[in-house]
Amino acid sequence: MNILLASSEVVPFAKTGGLADVSGALPIEIAKLGHRPIVFMPAYRAALQSGQPIEPYGDEFSIPIGSKIVAGSYLKSRLPNSDVDVVLVSQPEYFDRAGLYQENGEDYPDNCERFVFFCRAVMEGIRTLGLHVDLIHCNDWQTGLIPAYLALEYRHAPRYAKIASMLTIHNLAYQGNFWHWDMLLTGLDWRYFNWRQMEFFGRLNLLKTGIVFANSLTTVSPRYAQEIQTSELGCGLEGVLSHRTESLHGIINGIDETVWNPSIDPHLAANYDVNNWRDGKTTCKRALQEEMGLPTEAAPLIGLIGRLAEQKGWTLIIDLMKNLVPRTDVQWVVLGTGEPSYQQALEELAAAYPTKVAVRMAFSDAIAHRIEAGSDMFLMPSRYEPCGLNQLYSLKYGTVPIVHETGGLADTIVDFTGDAARDGASNGFQFREYRSEALLETVRRALEVFTHHPDQWGRLVECGMRQDWSWSRSARQYVSLYEQLAAS
Ligand code: ADP
Repeated sequence: MNILLASSEVVPFAKTGGLADVSGALPIEIAKLGHRPIVFMPAYRAALQSGQPIEPYGDEFSIPIGSKIVAGSYLKSRLPNSDVDVVLVSQPEYFDRAGLYQENGEDYPDNCERFVFFCRAVMEGIRTLGLHVDLIHCNDWQTGLIPAYLALEYRHAPRYAKIASMLTIHNLAYQGNFWHWDMLLTGLDWRYFNWRQMEFFGRLNLLKTGIVFANSLTTVSPRYAQEIQTSELGCGLEGVLSHRTESLHGIINGIDETVWNPSIDPHLAANYDVNNWRDGKTTCKRALQEEMGLPTEAAPLIGLIGRLAEQKGWTLIIDLMKNLVPRTDVQWVVLGTGEPSYQQALEELAAAYPTKVAVRMAFSDAIAHRIEAGSDMFLMPSRYEPCGLNQLYSLKYGTVPIVHETGGLADTIVDFTGDAARDGASNGFQFREYRSEALLETVRRALEVFTHHPDQWGRLVECGMRQDWSWSRSARQYVSLYEQLAAS
C-alpha cells in the first residue's frame, strides 16, 4: 500500500514531544513490512537547520486561504538510514519561525491559518507531485482538516476517489480550538459548522473535525482509547468519540531501538544488556552522579524526565520530594522544561539539598539517555498518559518504572504484586488513585524491594529488559488496520 503520513513534527527534523518520535519511526517500520510510506510535514526553521539534506521538489503552488491566495513550495528529504521520502511544505511566512507552535509560552495567533495551509498543501501535493496514495494517516489536530477535505472536496477527483483516511490522537487535550471566524480560512461551507461536525461550543475545533470525518481512528494505547470515551478524560469530546467507538483502536507506540538501546547507546559511560546490566548500570550510575554533582554513593537514584506540565504529575512529585528528600538518602535527578512554578519548586529543593537533588531545566537528549541508564527507578506519575515513551525507554534500560495506572502506563507496566510478582511477570510499580499518599506508599514499596530484596529487584529489571516494545510490533498492528480499511 502507498501510505501518506501527515504530521506536524517528525524526528530528526523537528520535535516538541512523542508525536515526533512516532512520525519518524513508524514509516520506516511500515516500509520494512513491504509498504510504501511518504511523510509530509511543515518546513519549519528547525527542520531546515536540522542538518538533514534537503532539496527543492516540484513546482510552486498556490492555495486559497480565506480571501487570499498563498503561494508555497515543496522540499524533499529522507528519514535517516531509510528510503522513506519526507516532503516538507515550505511557506516561510508561516513556518520559518523560532518555534513550532509558540514562542515564549504564547501560541502563534495564526496557528489555524498555518495548519489550514499545511492540510491543503498535503492534499494538493498528491495531485501536483503525482503521488499514488491509498491511505492518508493523519496525526493530531494539526492534520484534522485533511479527512474533511478528502470527504467533502476531493472525493470526486480521480486521484483521490479511493483514498482512505485514518486519524491518530496522540493527546486529546490538544484540540486546535479556534474562534468561529477561522471557519472562513478553511474554505469549507458554513453548513459543516454545527455541533455534530466542526463546531465545539461556538468555536472551530480541528481535532473534532478529524474525528468526525476520518474513516478510522486510533489512539496510542488501548486503555486511553477507553478513557477518552469517558467524561473524566474525554475533554468534552467523549460523546463524539463514543459515537465512533467501533472505529476507534488503541495501538501502543514503539521505541526506536537504534536510538534507545543501552547496548549501543553512544551517550553512555558503559554499554550493557540484560546479561551484564549490573556492571553496566553501576558504571552509568556513577557517571550520572558525577555529571550531576551528587556524591557517588550506593543510595537509590530516582530519575525524572519530561515536560513540566500538570499532566505529568508534577504536583504529586513535588509533594513527594518535599516529604522524602529530608527523611531518606534517596538521590533525585530531574530533567525538564515547562511551567515556571514547578521549575522554581524543583530548584528550591536542589538548592536546599544539593547532595540529594540535581535538576537540569533544559531539553537535552544526551542527558535524557544518561538518566535512563544511570537511574535505578524512573518516576512517571502522570495524571493521564496517552501512551508515554519514557517508561518504555526505562524498561529497555533496566530502570524500574513507578507509574500511575492510567492510559499507556496502565497497559505497559505490570505492578509488583500478587501472582505477577511471584511469577516474575512484573516490570514495575503502579498506583491507582491519583493522590500523593498513594504515590508515596508505592515509592516506599519500590525502595523496600530495591534495598532489601536485590534478587527480586533483579527479576523486575530483567523482566522489563527482555520485553519487546520495538516499533516492528506496533507497525504490524497499524498495517493490519490499514489493510482492513483499504479492503472496506
Ligand atoms: P509527551 O509527548 O506527552 O511529552 P512522551 O513520554 O510520550 O511525552 O514523550 C516525550 C519525549 O520527549 C520523550 O522522548 C522524552 O525523552 C522527551 N523529553 C521530554 N522532555 C525532555 C527534556 N527536558 N530533555 C530531553 N528529552 C525530553
